[in-house]
Amino acid sequence: MNILGIESTAHTLGIGIFNSKRGVLSNARARYQPKGGGILPRDAADHHALNFSSVLKSSLETANLDIEDIDAIAIAQGPGIGAPLSFGVGMARYLSSSLDVPIIGVNHPYAHIKIAEYFGKIEKPIIIYISGGNTQILFQNKDGFYDVLGETLDMGLGNLYDSFLRETGEKEAYGSKLEELAKGGKYIRMPYVVKGINISYSGLFTHAKRMIGKEKIEDIAYSLLETSLSMTMEITERAFHMKNAKSFLACGGVAQNNRLKEMLSLMARENKCQWYVAPNEYNGDNGAMIAYSGYLMQKQFGYFELKDIVPYPDYRIDRIRQHLSGIGKI
Ligand code: MG
Repeated sequence: MNILGIESTAHTLGIGIFNSKRGVLSNARARYQPKGGGILPRDAADHHALNFSSVLKSSLETANLDIEDIDAIAIAQGPGIGAPLSFGVGMARYLSSSLDVPIIGVNHPYAHIKIAEYFGKIEKPIIIYISGGNTQILFQNKDGFYDVLGETLDMGLGNLYDSFLRETGEKEAYGSKLEELAKGGKYIRMPYVVKGINISYSGLFTHAKRMIGKEKIEDIAYSLLETSLSMTMEITERAFHMKNAKSFLACGGVAQNNRLKEMLSLMARENKCQWYVAPNEYNGDNGAMIAYSGYLMQKQFGYFELKDIVPYPDYRIDRIRQHLSGIGKI
C-alpha cells in the first residue's frame, strides 16, 4: 500500500510517499524563504501553491510511481499557520476525492516523533520537540498518546535563533547560521529562565538583541546558543528523572543543531542511557513523516471521513485523543 503524505503547516511544502512493505520511498519538498522578517502566511500559501505540482511530480518520480498507484492520502491538520495549512488541506481533500482513495488527518508533532522512531529504535524516551514555533518536553502515556510535561512559555527555540539572526542582518536566518556565527565565541552572561519543566526564551532574546553592537557578535551568538540549549537540556533531564524514562529523543527542525546533539550525547553518557536524533532530512518539516504517521494512524483508528479533514491550527499533540474522540474514532 502506498500512502502519500502532505505537509504544509508552515514554511515547508513536503510531499512524501510511504509504502507499507518497502518503507519511505520519497520525500520531496520546497521551502519558502521569507524576504526579511518572519513567515508571511499568504506568501507561504502562495509558495506552496506555486510549487505543489513540481513537488508532487518529483515525489512520484523518486518513488517510481504514478499518481494512480497512490492508495491513500495523509495530511498534516495542524498545528500550523492558517493560510499555508488550508492550502495543503484543500489539496489533500481534492486528491482524495479525485483519485477516489481514503484520507487520514495527522498531528504534525506526532509525525515528527514517529518518523524519528521509524529510523531509530529507542526505548521509553523523553522527547524534546524543538522547531521554529515549538519547544515541548513530551512523554508517551499508557494510552499511547503524548503528554506535554513542559514547554516554552513564549517563543519556540527555532524562532529565538531566527529572530536573533534577523536582528544581526542575516538574510538567511537558519539555525545553522547561528552555529557558524558562534564559532570562536567566548561566553558572556545571559539571562537563564527555567520554571520547573517550563522555559522562557524571550528575556534571553531581548538581552542578546541589546548586546548587538556592544559585544563581539561571535560572543553573543555563542552565549545565546549555549544558554538556550543548557536551559533546554535542564528541563529535559528533569523530566527524564521525573518519569523514570530510559532514553532521550530530539525531533523537529532544531534537532539538526550540532551543539544540541553534543549536549544530548553528554547528558546521555552521564545518565547511562541511549539518545537518538533522526537524519537531518527527516527533522525539518517533511512529507514522509506525514505519510508514515498516516499509515500508523489508519492501522489503529481507520480512515477519516472527508468532512473531518479540516485545518486545525491549534492542534496540540496533547489533544489527539480528544480530537479522535470528537470525530468518533475512539
Ligand atoms: Mg515541525
